Amino acid sequence: MTTDTHTATDFEVVIGLEVHSQLLTKSKMFCTCSTDYANAAPNTHVCPVCMGMPGVLPVINQQAVAYTIMTALALNCTIPEYSKFDRKNYPYPDLMKGYQISQYDVPLSRNGYLTFDLNGQTRRIGITRVHLEEDTARLLHHEGYSLIDINRSGTPLMEIVSEPDMRSPEEARLYMQKLREILVYLGVSSGRMEEGSLRCDANISIRPRGQKELGVKTEIKNMNSFRSVEHALEYEAQRQIAMVRAGETIHQETRGWVETKGITVPQRSKEQAHDYRYFPEPDLPPLIISRAWVEELRAQLPELPDARRTRYMTEYGLSAQDANVLTEEKALGDYFEQVMAASHASDRKARAKAASNWLLSEVVRLIKASNIAISACPLSPVALVNLLDLLDKERITGKQAKEILEEAFASGEMPEAIVTRKGIKPPITDQRELERIVEEVISNNVKIANDYRAGKTNALQALVGQIMKQTRGQAKPDIVQKLLKAKLDEVPPM
Ligand SMILES: [Zn+2]
Repeated sequence: MTTDTHTATDFEVVIGLEVHSQLLTKSKMFCTCSTDYANAAPNTHVCPVCMGMPGVLPVINQQAVAYTIMTALALNCTIPEYSKFDRKNYPYPDLMKGYQISQYDVPLSRNGYLTFDLNGQTRRIGITRVHLEEDTARLLHHEGYSLIDINRSGTPLMEIVSEPDMRSPEEARLYMQKLREILVYLGVSSGRMEEGSLRCDANISIRPRGQKELGVKTEIKNMNSFRSVEHALEYEAQRQIAMVRAGETIHQETRGWVETKGITVPQRSKEQAHDYRYFPEPDLPPLIISRAWVEELRAQLPELPDARRTRYMTEYGLSAQDANVLTEEKALGDYFEQVMAASHASDRKARAKAASNWLLSEVVRLIKASNIAISACPLSPVALVNLLDLLDKERITGKQAKEILEEAFASGEMPEAIVTRKGIKPPITDQRELERIVEEVISNNVKIANDYRAGKTNALQALVGQIMKQTRGQAKPDIVQKLLKAKLDEVPPM
Protein backbone atom coordinates (compact mmCIF):
# COMPACT_ATOMS: atom_id res chain seq x y z
CA MET A 1 0.00 0.00 0.00
CA THR A 2 1.46 3.36 -0.92
CA THR A 3 1.52 6.31 1.43
CA ASP A 4 -0.82 8.23 -0.79
CA THR A 5 -3.67 5.74 -0.78
CA HIS A 6 -3.18 5.10 2.91
CA THR A 7 -3.47 8.77 3.78
CA ALA A 8 -5.95 9.75 1.11
CA THR A 9 -8.69 10.13 3.67
CA ASP A 10 -7.09 12.13 6.43
CA PHE A 11 -3.44 13.15 5.96
CA GLU A 12 -1.48 14.91 3.27
CA VAL A 13 2.28 14.43 2.85
CA VAL A 14 4.38 17.53 2.13
CA ILE A 15 7.90 17.11 0.75
CA GLY A 16 10.65 19.48 -0.31
CA LEU A 17 14.08 18.38 -1.53
CA GLU A 18 17.56 19.82 -1.10
CA VAL A 19 19.79 18.34 -3.75
CA HIS A 20 23.56 18.73 -3.74
CA SER A 21 25.55 18.12 -6.87
CA GLN A 22 29.30 18.24 -7.26
CA LEU A 23 30.14 20.21 -10.40
CA LEU A 24 32.27 18.77 -13.19
CA THR A 25 34.91 21.49 -13.07
CA LYS A 26 38.58 20.61 -13.46
CA SER A 27 39.66 22.43 -10.32
CA LYS A 28 38.17 23.03 -6.88
CA MET A 29 35.90 25.92 -5.86
CA PHE A 30 38.47 28.26 -4.34
CA CYS A 31 41.91 26.78 -5.22
CA THR A 32 43.62 25.16 -8.20
CA CYS A 33 43.66 21.60 -6.79
CA SER A 34 42.32 19.01 -9.25
CA THR A 35 38.84 17.60 -8.60
CA ASP A 36 39.90 14.33 -10.25
CA TYR A 37 40.57 12.55 -6.95
CA ALA A 38 38.24 9.54 -7.33
CA ASN A 39 41.12 7.07 -7.66
CA ALA A 40 43.77 9.11 -5.85
CA ALA A 41 45.45 8.23 -2.57
CA PRO A 42 43.95 10.10 0.42
CA ASN A 43 45.15 13.67 0.99
CA THR A 44 47.02 14.00 -2.31
CA HIS A 45 44.75 16.60 -3.97
CA VAL A 46 45.18 19.27 -1.31
CA CYS A 47 46.75 22.69 -0.75
CA PRO A 48 46.75 25.26 2.08
CA VAL A 49 43.45 26.75 0.79
CA CYS A 50 41.36 23.55 0.79
CA MET A 51 43.08 22.36 3.98
CA GLY A 52 41.81 25.55 5.64
CA MET A 53 45.18 26.93 6.76
CA PRO A 54 45.05 30.37 8.40
CA GLY A 55 45.95 33.36 6.25
CA VAL A 56 45.17 31.85 2.83
CA LEU A 57 42.87 33.56 0.36
CA PRO A 58 40.16 31.85 -1.74
CA VAL A 59 39.67 32.65 -5.44
CA ILE A 60 36.27 32.01 -7.07
CA ASN A 61 36.13 29.30 -9.78
CA GLN A 62 34.43 31.04 -12.72
CA GLN A 63 33.42 27.77 -14.40
CA ALA A 64 31.56 26.69 -11.24
CA VAL A 65 29.62 29.97 -11.29
CA ALA A 66 28.86 29.47 -15.00
CA TYR A 67 27.60 25.90 -14.40
CA THR A 68 25.38 27.10 -11.55
CA ILE A 69 23.87 29.86 -13.70
CA MET A 70 23.31 27.40 -16.58
CA THR A 71 21.50 25.05 -14.19
CA ALA A 72 19.44 27.90 -12.81
CA LEU A 73 18.47 28.97 -16.35
CA ALA A 74 17.50 25.40 -17.27
CA LEU A 75 15.31 25.39 -14.14
CA ASN A 76 13.60 28.63 -15.18
CA CYS A 77 15.14 30.70 -12.35
CA THR A 78 15.85 34.42 -12.35
CA ILE A 79 19.50 35.46 -11.98
CA PRO A 80 19.98 38.59 -9.85
CA GLU A 81 22.72 40.98 -10.90
CA TYR A 82 24.21 40.99 -7.43
CA SER A 83 25.18 37.91 -5.45
CA LYS A 84 27.67 37.12 -2.71
CA PHE A 85 29.23 34.34 -0.68
CA ASP A 86 28.69 33.90 3.05
CA ARG A 87 30.34 31.96 5.82
CA LYS A 88 28.24 29.18 7.32
CA ASN A 89 29.76 28.30 10.67
CA TYR A 90 29.50 24.84 12.12
CA PRO A 91 31.85 22.69 14.13
CA TYR A 92 32.10 19.38 12.30
CA PRO A 93 35.46 17.64 11.99
CA ASP A 94 35.05 17.30 8.17
CA LEU A 95 34.93 21.07 7.75
CA MET A 96 38.52 22.22 7.48
CA LYS A 97 38.05 25.93 8.23
CA GLY A 98 35.34 25.53 10.88
CA TYR A 99 33.03 27.21 8.36
CA GLN A 100 31.81 26.50 4.87
CA ILE A 101 31.78 29.15 2.16
CA SER A 102 28.18 29.07 0.95
CA GLN A 103 25.47 31.52 -0.06
CA TYR A 104 22.79 32.78 2.30
CA ASP A 105 20.49 35.71 1.59
CA VAL A 106 21.51 36.58 -1.99
CA PRO A 107 22.05 33.32 -3.86
CA LEU A 108 23.01 33.14 -7.56
CA SER A 109 19.41 32.42 -8.53
CA ARG A 110 15.81 32.19 -7.33
CA ASN A 111 12.20 31.37 -8.22
CA GLY A 112 12.33 28.67 -10.83
CA TYR A 113 10.41 25.49 -11.46
CA LEU A 114 10.75 21.99 -12.83
CA THR A 115 8.01 19.89 -14.40
CA PHE A 116 7.55 16.14 -14.65
CA ASP A 117 4.87 13.79 -15.77
CA LEU A 118 2.72 11.95 -13.23
CA ASN A 119 0.13 9.56 -14.64
CA GLY A 120 -0.22 11.67 -17.78
CA GLN A 121 -0.52 14.95 -15.84
CA THR A 122 2.18 17.63 -15.73
CA ARG A 123 3.33 18.39 -12.18
CA ARG A 124 5.14 21.67 -11.62
CA ILE A 125 7.45 21.93 -8.60
CA GLY A 126 8.82 25.31 -7.50
CA ILE A 127 12.58 25.80 -7.24
CA THR A 128 13.36 28.15 -4.37
CA ARG A 129 17.01 28.71 -5.29
CA VAL A 130 20.11 27.28 -6.89
CA HIS A 131 23.27 28.34 -5.12
CA LEU A 132 26.95 27.50 -4.92
CA GLU A 133 29.10 26.30 -2.05
CA GLU A 134 32.02 23.96 -1.33
CA ASP A 135 32.06 20.28 -0.39
CA THR A 136 33.53 19.04 2.88
CA ALA A 137 36.32 16.53 3.53
CA ARG A 138 35.44 12.87 3.96
CA LEU A 139 35.53 11.05 7.29
CA LEU A 140 36.25 7.34 7.44
CA HIS A 141 35.13 5.82 10.71
CA HIS A 142 36.91 2.83 12.19
CA GLU A 143 36.57 1.18 15.54
CA GLY A 144 37.85 3.63 18.14
CA TYR A 145 39.18 6.22 15.67
CA SER A 146 38.35 8.12 12.50
CA LEU A 147 40.45 9.10 9.50
CA ILE A 148 40.03 12.15 7.31
CA ASP A 149 40.55 12.44 3.55
CA ILE A 150 40.73 16.08 2.50
CA ASN A 151 40.70 15.39 -1.27
CA ARG A 152 36.96 16.16 -1.47
CA SER A 153 37.28 19.36 0.59
CA GLY A 154 36.60 22.44 -1.52
CA THR A 155 35.04 20.63 -4.48
CA PRO A 156 32.40 22.91 -6.06
CA LEU A 157 29.00 21.91 -4.72
CA MET A 158 25.75 23.25 -6.16
CA GLU A 159 22.62 23.14 -4.03
CA ILE A 160 19.16 23.06 -5.59
CA VAL A 161 16.39 23.74 -3.09
CA SER A 162 12.78 23.01 -4.01
CA GLU A 163 9.59 24.44 -2.58
CA PRO A 164 7.58 22.02 -0.40
CA ASP A 165 5.43 21.24 -3.44
CA MET A 166 5.64 17.47 -3.61
CA ARG A 167 2.73 15.47 -2.26
CA SER A 168 3.97 11.89 -2.28
CA PRO A 169 7.23 9.93 -2.10
CA GLU A 170 6.65 8.93 -5.73
CA GLU A 171 6.63 12.61 -6.74
CA ALA A 172 9.90 13.09 -4.85
CA ARG A 173 11.47 10.27 -6.86
CA LEU A 174 10.14 11.61 -10.17
CA TYR A 175 11.43 15.11 -9.33
CA MET A 176 14.85 13.69 -8.47
CA GLN A 177 14.99 11.65 -11.69
CA LYS A 178 14.03 14.64 -13.82
CA LEU A 179 16.52 16.91 -12.07
CA ARG A 180 19.31 14.36 -12.59
CA GLU A 181 18.43 14.12 -16.30
CA ILE A 182 18.70 17.90 -16.67
CA LEU A 183 22.03 18.11 -14.80
CA VAL A 184 23.54 15.34 -16.92
CA TYR A 185 22.26 16.92 -20.16
CA LEU A 186 23.81 20.23 -19.11
CA GLY A 187 27.10 18.42 -18.54
CA VAL A 188 27.48 20.01 -15.10
CA SER A 189 27.11 16.81 -13.04
CA SER A 190 28.03 13.15 -13.37
CA GLY A 191 24.63 12.38 -11.83
CA ARG A 192 26.12 9.46 -9.90
CA MET A 193 24.05 9.11 -6.73
CA GLU A 194 25.75 5.83 -5.82
CA GLU A 195 29.12 7.62 -5.70
CA GLY A 196 27.78 10.56 -3.72
CA SER A 197 28.49 13.18 -6.38
CA LEU A 198 24.71 13.77 -6.45
CA ARG A 199 23.04 13.73 -3.04
CA CYS A 200 19.55 14.32 -1.77
CA ASP A 201 18.18 15.47 1.58
CA ALA A 202 14.42 15.58 2.03
CA ASN A 203 12.21 17.66 4.29
CA ILE A 204 8.97 15.90 5.02
CA SER A 205 5.93 16.71 7.13
CA ILE A 206 2.31 15.67 7.29
CA ARG A 207 -0.85 17.67 7.92
CA PRO A 208 -4.54 16.92 8.14
CA ARG A 209 -5.97 17.15 4.63
CA GLY A 210 -7.32 20.63 4.02
CA GLN A 211 -5.11 22.32 6.61
CA LYS A 212 -3.13 25.29 5.26
CA GLU A 213 -0.19 25.52 7.65
CA LEU A 214 2.65 23.05 7.44
CA GLY A 215 3.30 20.39 10.06
CA VAL A 216 6.62 19.99 11.89
CA LYS A 217 9.14 18.60 9.41
CA THR A 218 11.97 16.16 9.74
CA GLU A 219 14.98 16.12 7.44
CA ILE A 220 16.01 12.76 5.99
CA LYS A 221 19.60 12.09 4.92
CA ASN A 222 21.69 9.21 3.52
CA MET A 223 19.52 8.29 0.55
CA ASN A 224 21.81 7.24 -2.27
CA SER A 225 19.44 6.01 -4.96
CA PHE A 226 16.08 7.01 -6.45
CA ARG A 227 14.55 3.95 -4.86
CA SER A 228 15.88 4.78 -1.40
CA VAL A 229 14.49 8.34 -1.70
CA GLU A 230 11.03 6.90 -2.30
CA HIS A 231 11.33 4.15 0.34
CA ALA A 232 12.75 6.43 3.04
CA LEU A 233 9.97 8.98 2.53
CA GLU A 234 7.28 6.28 2.55
CA TYR A 235 8.65 5.00 5.83
CA GLU A 236 8.94 8.47 7.34
CA ALA A 237 5.42 9.52 6.31
CA GLN A 238 3.97 6.42 7.96
CA ARG A 239 6.06 6.98 11.08
CA GLN A 240 4.82 10.57 11.44
CA ILE A 241 1.20 9.60 10.80
CA ALA A 242 1.42 6.84 13.42
CA MET A 243 2.88 9.32 15.92
CA VAL A 244 0.13 11.88 15.36
CA ARG A 245 -2.55 9.20 15.61
CA ALA A 246 -1.02 8.08 18.91
CA GLY A 247 -1.18 11.66 20.19
CA GLU A 248 2.62 12.10 20.18
CA THR A 249 4.50 15.24 19.14
CA ILE A 250 6.78 15.28 16.10
CA HIS A 251 10.07 17.10 16.77
CA GLN A 252 12.08 18.94 14.17
CA GLU A 253 15.16 16.78 13.74
CA THR A 254 17.56 15.28 11.22
CA ARG A 255 17.10 11.57 10.63
CA GLY A 256 19.24 9.13 8.72
CA TRP A 257 17.88 6.46 6.35
CA VAL A 258 19.24 3.01 7.20
CA GLU A 259 18.95 1.16 3.91
CA THR A 260 19.62 -2.31 5.33
CA LYS A 261 16.86 -2.01 7.92
CA GLY A 262 14.46 0.11 5.87
CA ILE A 263 13.98 2.67 8.67
CA THR A 264 14.93 6.24 9.54
CA VAL A 265 16.73 6.88 12.84
CA PRO A 266 17.30 10.17 14.71
CA GLN A 267 20.71 11.77 14.08
CA ARG A 268 20.54 15.20 15.68
CA SER A 269 18.10 18.00 16.36
CA LYS A 270 17.81 20.13 13.24
CA GLU A 271 19.67 23.43 13.28
CA GLN A 272 17.89 26.70 12.63
CA ALA A 273 19.51 29.20 10.27
CA HIS A 274 20.69 31.36 13.19
CA ASP A 275 22.68 28.41 14.59
CA TYR A 276 25.06 28.85 11.66
CA ARG A 277 25.89 32.51 12.41
CA TYR A 278 26.00 33.42 8.71
CA PHE A 279 27.94 36.53 7.71
CA PRO A 280 29.32 37.79 4.39
CA GLU A 281 32.61 36.12 3.42
CA PRO A 282 35.13 38.93 3.93
CA ASP A 283 37.80 37.31 1.73
CA LEU A 284 35.68 37.33 -1.44
CA PRO A 285 34.29 40.23 -3.45
CA PRO A 286 30.55 40.27 -4.25
CA LEU A 287 29.63 38.65 -7.55
CA ILE A 288 28.29 41.04 -10.17
CA ILE A 289 26.61 38.94 -12.85
CA SER A 290 26.41 40.93 -16.08
CA ARG A 291 23.29 40.49 -18.23
CA ALA A 292 25.52 39.91 -21.24
CA TRP A 293 27.15 36.91 -19.55
CA VAL A 294 23.77 35.47 -18.54
CA GLU A 295 22.58 35.71 -22.15
CA GLU A 296 25.83 34.18 -23.39
CA LEU A 297 25.30 31.22 -21.03
CA ARG A 298 21.65 30.93 -22.02
CA ALA A 299 22.70 30.68 -25.66
CA GLN A 300 25.11 27.88 -24.74
CA LEU A 301 22.43 25.71 -23.11
CA PRO A 302 22.23 22.34 -24.88
CA GLU A 303 19.00 20.69 -25.94
CA LEU A 304 17.33 19.53 -22.71
CA PRO A 305 15.58 16.17 -22.22
CA ASP A 306 12.00 17.44 -22.75
CA ALA A 307 12.92 19.12 -26.03
CA ARG A 308 14.80 16.05 -27.26
CA ARG A 309 11.86 13.81 -26.34
CA THR A 310 9.41 15.97 -28.28
CA ARG A 311 11.75 16.12 -31.28
CA TYR A 312 12.08 12.32 -31.39
CA MET A 313 8.31 12.06 -31.65
CA THR A 314 7.74 14.85 -34.17
CA GLU A 315 10.85 14.58 -36.34
CA TYR A 316 11.35 10.81 -36.23
CA GLY A 317 7.81 9.62 -35.55
CA LEU A 318 8.88 7.55 -32.54
CA SER A 319 6.35 6.51 -29.90
CA ALA A 320 6.27 8.37 -26.58
CA GLN A 321 7.48 5.18 -24.91
CA ASP A 322 10.54 4.82 -27.18
CA ALA A 323 11.30 8.55 -27.02
CA ASN A 324 11.23 8.36 -23.21
CA VAL A 325 13.59 5.42 -22.96
CA LEU A 326 15.99 6.93 -25.52
CA THR A 327 16.22 10.25 -23.68
CA GLU A 328 16.27 9.17 -20.03
CA GLU A 329 19.98 8.40 -20.28
CA LYS A 330 21.69 11.14 -22.28
CA ALA A 331 24.39 8.75 -23.51
CA LEU A 332 21.79 6.44 -25.07
CA GLY A 333 20.15 9.39 -26.87
CA ASP A 334 23.58 10.57 -28.02
CA TYR A 335 24.26 7.12 -29.49
CA PHE A 336 20.92 7.22 -31.31
CA GLU A 337 21.77 10.70 -32.67
CA GLN A 338 25.05 9.37 -34.04
CA VAL A 339 23.24 6.48 -35.74
CA MET A 340 20.84 8.92 -37.38
CA ALA A 341 23.66 11.28 -38.40
CA ALA A 342 25.58 8.42 -40.06
CA SER A 343 22.49 7.14 -41.88
CA HIS A 344 21.77 8.01 -45.50
CA ALA A 345 18.47 6.14 -45.56
CA SER A 346 15.88 7.58 -47.90
CA ASP A 347 13.14 7.11 -45.31
CA ARG A 348 14.42 8.73 -42.11
CA LYS A 349 11.35 7.81 -40.07
CA ALA A 350 11.63 4.14 -41.03
CA ARG A 351 15.34 4.25 -40.24
CA ALA A 352 14.65 5.94 -36.88
CA LYS A 353 12.14 3.26 -35.96
CA ALA A 354 14.53 0.45 -36.94
CA ALA A 355 17.49 2.11 -35.19
CA SER A 356 15.42 2.63 -32.03
CA ASN A 357 14.19 -1.00 -32.07
CA TRP A 358 17.65 -2.52 -32.53
CA LEU A 359 19.20 -0.14 -30.03
CA LEU A 360 16.60 -0.62 -27.28
CA SER A 361 16.33 -4.38 -27.65
CA GLU A 362 19.55 -6.00 -28.88
CA VAL A 363 22.24 -3.39 -28.17
CA VAL A 364 20.93 -2.49 -24.70
CA ARG A 365 20.63 -6.21 -23.88
CA LEU A 366 24.28 -6.82 -24.85
CA ILE A 367 25.45 -3.74 -22.94
CA LYS A 368 23.63 -4.85 -19.80
CA ALA A 369 24.94 -8.40 -20.12
CA SER A 370 28.53 -7.17 -20.30
CA ASN A 371 27.92 -4.54 -17.60
CA ILE A 372 29.46 -1.59 -19.46
CA ALA A 373 28.39 2.00 -20.05
CA ILE A 374 26.72 2.88 -23.37
CA SER A 375 29.56 5.33 -24.00
CA ALA A 376 31.96 2.35 -23.91
CA CYS A 377 29.84 0.25 -26.31
CA PRO A 378 32.22 -1.75 -28.55
CA LEU A 379 29.66 -1.63 -31.37
CA SER A 380 30.07 1.83 -32.87
CA PRO A 381 27.02 3.77 -34.14
CA VAL A 382 28.54 3.45 -37.64
CA ALA A 383 28.60 -0.34 -37.26
CA LEU A 384 24.91 -0.36 -36.31
CA VAL A 385 24.17 1.81 -39.38
CA ASN A 386 26.08 -0.73 -41.47
CA LEU A 387 23.92 -3.55 -40.09
CA LEU A 388 20.69 -1.61 -40.74
CA ASP A 389 21.82 -0.92 -44.30
CA LEU A 390 22.45 -4.65 -44.88
CA LEU A 391 18.94 -5.35 -43.64
CA ASP A 392 17.42 -2.60 -45.80
CA LYS A 393 19.16 -4.02 -48.88
CA GLU A 394 17.87 -7.49 -47.91
CA ARG A 395 21.45 -8.71 -47.94
CA ILE A 396 20.82 -10.54 -44.64
CA THR A 397 17.77 -11.81 -42.77
CA GLY A 398 16.67 -10.54 -39.37
CA LYS A 399 17.84 -13.75 -37.75
CA GLN A 400 21.29 -13.46 -39.33
CA ALA A 401 21.41 -9.78 -38.31
CA LYS A 402 21.03 -10.73 -34.64
CA GLU A 403 23.94 -13.16 -34.85
CA ILE A 404 26.10 -10.69 -36.78
CA LEU A 405 25.29 -7.97 -34.24
CA GLU A 406 26.44 -10.18 -31.37
CA GLU A 407 29.66 -10.94 -33.19
CA ALA A 408 30.27 -7.29 -34.08
CA PHE A 409 29.58 -6.33 -30.46
CA ALA A 410 32.15 -8.82 -29.23
CA SER A 411 34.88 -8.08 -31.80
CA GLY A 412 34.25 -4.51 -32.92
CA GLU A 413 34.30 -5.78 -36.54
CA MET A 414 32.02 -4.13 -39.11
CA PRO A 415 28.90 -6.24 -39.92
CA GLU A 416 29.67 -6.14 -43.66
CA ALA A 417 33.16 -7.53 -42.99
CA ILE A 418 31.64 -10.35 -40.95
CA VAL A 419 29.24 -11.19 -43.79
CA THR A 420 32.15 -11.33 -46.26
CA ARG A 421 34.49 -13.24 -43.96
CA LYS A 422 31.88 -15.90 -43.16
CA GLY A 423 30.72 -16.14 -46.78
CA ILE A 424 27.10 -15.55 -45.82
CA LYS A 425 25.03 -15.87 -48.99
CA PRO A 426 22.22 -13.42 -49.69
CA PRO A 427 18.72 -14.59 -48.72
CA ILE A 428 16.96 -16.75 -51.32
CA THR A 429 14.67 -14.37 -53.12
CA ASP A 430 14.13 -16.59 -56.18
CA GLN A 431 10.48 -17.55 -55.86
CA ARG A 432 10.77 -20.71 -57.95
CA GLU A 433 13.77 -21.97 -55.99
CA LEU A 434 11.86 -21.46 -52.75
CA GLU A 435 8.73 -23.16 -54.11
CA ARG A 436 10.84 -26.17 -55.07
CA ILE A 437 12.21 -26.46 -51.51
CA VAL A 438 8.72 -26.02 -50.03
CA GLU A 439 7.35 -28.82 -52.19
CA GLU A 440 10.25 -31.05 -51.28
CA VAL A 441 9.76 -30.52 -47.55
CA ILE A 442 6.00 -31.19 -47.84
CA SER A 443 6.55 -34.48 -49.70
CA ASN A 444 9.16 -35.54 -47.12
CA ASN A 445 6.81 -34.73 -44.21
CA VAL A 446 3.44 -36.06 -45.34
CA LYS A 447 2.20 -36.73 -41.81
CA ILE A 448 2.90 -33.20 -40.57
CA ALA A 449 1.35 -31.74 -43.74
CA ASN A 450 -1.79 -33.79 -43.16
CA ASP A 451 -1.88 -32.73 -39.51
CA TYR A 452 -1.93 -29.13 -40.68
CA ARG A 453 -4.65 -29.82 -43.22
CA ALA A 454 -6.65 -31.53 -40.47
CA GLY A 455 -6.64 -28.28 -38.52
CA LYS A 456 -3.49 -28.53 -36.37
CA THR A 457 -2.17 -25.06 -37.17
CA ASN A 458 0.92 -25.64 -35.00
CA ALA A 459 2.13 -28.13 -37.55
CA LEU A 460 2.90 -25.23 -39.89
CA GLN A 461 5.75 -24.02 -37.67
CA ALA A 462 7.37 -27.46 -37.78
CA LEU A 463 7.43 -27.27 -41.58
CA VAL A 464 8.74 -23.70 -41.57
CA GLY A 465 11.53 -24.90 -39.29
CA GLN A 466 12.40 -27.70 -41.75
CA ILE A 467 12.57 -25.24 -44.63
CA MET A 468 14.69 -22.76 -42.67
CA LYS A 469 17.04 -25.63 -41.86
CA GLN A 470 17.22 -26.71 -45.49
CA THR A 471 17.95 -23.14 -46.67
CA ARG A 472 20.41 -22.63 -43.79
CA GLY A 473 18.47 -19.61 -42.61
CA GLN A 474 18.76 -17.88 -45.98
CA ALA A 475 15.02 -17.73 -46.56
CA LYS A 476 12.75 -15.12 -45.03
CA PRO A 477 10.41 -16.83 -42.57
CA ASP A 478 7.41 -14.68 -43.51
CA ILE A 479 7.76 -15.48 -47.23
CA VAL A 480 8.33 -19.18 -46.47
CA GLN A 481 5.19 -19.24 -44.35
CA LYS A 482 3.14 -17.64 -47.12
CA LEU A 483 4.36 -20.06 -49.79
CA LEU A 484 3.90 -23.02 -47.48
CA LYS A 485 0.30 -22.11 -46.64
CA ALA A 486 -0.56 -21.63 -50.29
CA LYS A 487 0.91 -25.02 -51.23
CA LEU A 488 -0.76 -26.87 -48.35
CA ASP A 489 -4.14 -25.30 -49.07
CA GLU A 490 -3.99 -26.44 -52.71
CA VAL A 491 -4.73 -29.97 -51.52
CA PRO A 492 -8.04 -30.44 -49.70
CA PRO A 493 -7.94 -32.02 -46.21
CA MET A 494 -7.88 -35.83 -46.25
ZN1 LIG B 1 43.39 23.07 -2.75
